[in-house]
Amino acid sequence: MRKGILFILSGPSGSGKGTILSKVLEKHPEIKLSVSMTTRKIRPTETPDVSYYFVTKEEFESSIKNGELLEYATFDGEYYGTPKKKIDSYLEKGIDVILEIEVQGAMQVLEKAKDAVAIMITPPDIQTLEKWLRGRGTNSEKSILERLATARQEVKYLPKYHYSVINEENKQDECAELIYSIMQAEHNKTIHRKNLTDKFE
Ligand code: 5GP
Repeated sequence: MRKGILFILSGPSGSGKGTILSKVLEKHPEIKLSVSMTTRKIRPTETPDVSYYFVTKEEFESSIKNGELLEYATFDGEYYGTPKKKIDSYLEKGIDVILEIEVQGAMQVLEKAKDAVAIMITPPDIQTLEKWLRGRGTNSEKSILERLATARQEVKYLPKYHYSVINEENKQDECAELIYSIMQAEHNKTIHRKNLTDKFE
């Protein structure tokens, strides 16, 4: 039976990553999205234990101490981390798992899980990102400038990722398809076909 693959999906705030990911998961419900733990406040659109496990700083720090996290990072002054618990059992069962995490966490996962596959979604350029962030209408000027500065730093990590997916304007469906194709292509790498030659003895 084929094993699952651990996929990392990163992208700057405003890159459209969340929408694209929802499209992939809607069309392919067999893929699991890992639910992260965070100390940030819940947003009105979010559901506890589905969007995130919302915890206190003390609870988060105790999870770090007990070795319960595959990776963690601080982003915008809050902790975010990936609970280890369910990931291995999904992979053993042949289920692919996606971690939607920022770059510091992605680097930790690539260090620990050597067969993880990292994909970064970006807008075509910084001007487009600025336009999208402004178009949301929900961010203050300060927050827009901060997100743009963070994006510039994040994209510097692109060479460490295996794949770059560019979210061109109004091409979210195509992007979702491309991500799914990358996931399937990864399963056809010869490294995952070690037993095939035996079947031709
Ligand atoms: P947001 O607060 O907008 O939901 O997420 C902020 C950032 O944290 C996003 O870049 C998101 O990918 C990242 N993030 C979410 N969960 C995790 C996690 O478990 N670990 C790390 N390292 N980053 C995460």
